[in-house]
Amino acid sequence: MSNDKVSIALVLPDLLGTYGDFGNAVVLEKRMTWRGIPAEIVTVNFGEPVPDSCDIYVVGGGEDTAQTLAVRHLRDHPGMQRAAARGAVVLGVCAGIQIFGESFTRADQVTHPGLGLLDSTSHAGGSRAIGEVVATPADGLFEGLLTGFENHQGRTVLGPSARPLAHVKVGTGNDGSVEGAVQGRILCTYLHGPVLPRNPQLADLLIEWATGTKPAPLELEAVTRLRTERAKAAGVPA
Ligand code: GLN
Repeated sequence: MSNDKVSIALVLPDLLGTYGDFGNAVVLEKRMTWRGIPAEIVTVNFGEPVPDSCDIYVVGGGEDTAQTLAVRHLRDHPGMQRAAARGAVVLGVCAGIQIFGESFTRADQVTHPGLGLLDSTSHAGGSRAIGEVVATPADGLFEGLLTGFENHQGRTVLGPSARPLAHVKVGTGNDGSVEGAVQGRILCTYLHGPVLPRNPQLADLLIEWATGTKPAPLELEAVTRLRTERAKAAGVPA
C-alpha cells in the first residue's frame, strides 16, 4: 500500500466509462472497506496528470474516438504505466484491453499505437459483438463462471506474454474462443455489467493482488440474485 489506504485510480471515467464501468472502482472500494481494509477512489479526469502512486488502476470502455483521445492522454501522462512497471494492479475493460496493447486498428482502418502494457493487438472485426457472455476462468484463476455483457467491434489477438482470462462458452470476447487477458498484474476483459459487481470473485482476486492477502469471504444476497438472473438470461445454469 502506498499510504494507509489502498488507493484505486479511476482513470478517465469522462472518456472511458460506458455502461457504468466506474462501478468497478466502487466495488473494489466497498469490498475492502466492508472488511475493514481502508480504501479510497482517486478520480483522474481527461486533462489531469495520472498519479503513479496508486495501488489499483481501473480503466473502462469507450468508443473508438474516445479511446484514441484517452491513449494520447495516457501516453503524455505515463503514471499508470510507471505504476504497472512496479507491480500495481491494472484492470482494463473493453476499450481498456484495446489501448493497453501494442496497437489497435479502428473501424476506419487507421492503426494507433497502444500503451504497450499488454502483449496484444486489436483490430475492428466484421461485425459488432453484442450480448451476454459466459466464460470459464482460465488456469483456475477464480471460482465460478465469468459473466457480463459485451458491445464492441474490436477483436484482440494475444501474444505469447499474455494469457487468456477465460474461455468463452457464450458470446465472443476477444475472438469467439478466448476472453480477456492476464499479464502479470494487468487484467483485461471485454465484459461490462460492470464486470466486478457481477463477478465478485474477480474483484477479490484483484484485492488479493493489491494487498498481498486473500480477503475474507463476503457473500452478498443481491449479488447471488444478480448472477442467477443473468445466467438465466444467457441460458446457462448459474
Ligand atoms: N471502441 C471499441 C470497440 O467498439 C470499444 C467499445 C467499448 O469499449 N464498449 O471495439
